[in-house]
Amino acid sequence: MKSGIHPKYDKTIVRCACGNEFETRSTRDEIRVEICSECHPFYTGSQKTVERGGRAEKFKKKYGLK
Ligand SMILES: [Zn+2]
Repeated sequence: MKSGIHPKYDKTIVRCACGNEFETRSTRDEIRVEICSECHPFYTGSQKTVERGGRAEKFKKKYGLK
């Protein structure tokens, strides 16, 4: 075992693809991420409501049956 090796564990800048930057603590100098809390759909609230199926059924019920 080598002694005297202490990986630095200091402030690290995390850069996101959206341009947001924030600090965290890591042994790495810089961290690049593609998504962060600023641009993640879960946090921005711009979730896409996927509605597959059911629509056609509703349509049929509404207009098909008389
Ligand atoms: Zn981001």
